[in-house]
Amino acid sequence: MTVTPAQLRALASRAEALAAEVRAACAITPDVHPGEADPFVAARQAADWLTRATDDLRHAATDLARTQVEPCAMAWAVCPEHGNTLTSMAGVSTCRVCGHSTPTPRPGEPCGAPVTWKVIDPAGTETRMCAGHVLGARAVSQGATFIHLDQALT
Ligand SMILES: [Zn+2]
Ligand SMILES: [Zn+2]
Repeated sequence: MTVTPAQLRALASRAEALAAEVRAACAITPDVHPGEADPFVAARQAADWLTRATDDLRHAATDLARTQVEPCAMAWAVCPEHGNTLTSMAGVSTCRVCGHSTPTPRPGEPCGAPVTWKVIDPAGTETRMCAGHVLGARAVSQGATFIHLDQALT
């Protein structure tokens, strides 16, 4: 099973709800006789810990989202900004538009740039790719749907 950032965020929400429940329970004042210790000291502390846990879980979700960026698997070279504009010479691919040059990938070597787009061809086949490859794909795909993935909160 793979844990997703959304699952961690759901756990954070539960911890937050628990903290609120504990605080609500503590708000009901019992009959504390003068000189007796407040029986809710530990419970209030627990609520504070739950609030901290909420924050930590949200941080973990953000960190996880960062590490789970999917690498692009396209195996043809593109300029990250212009797409299919590379001219390959002596093992180096150079963009005809901006001059960006990169070693020409060996056949079958994946791109590895973060996936930011989902492309669905007219037959319904879904391919995920980086911004550079989407530009290249746009130039050659007829009738495909291009969807930008909202990486921030999914
Ligand atoms: Zn370029
Ligand atoms: Zn790519």
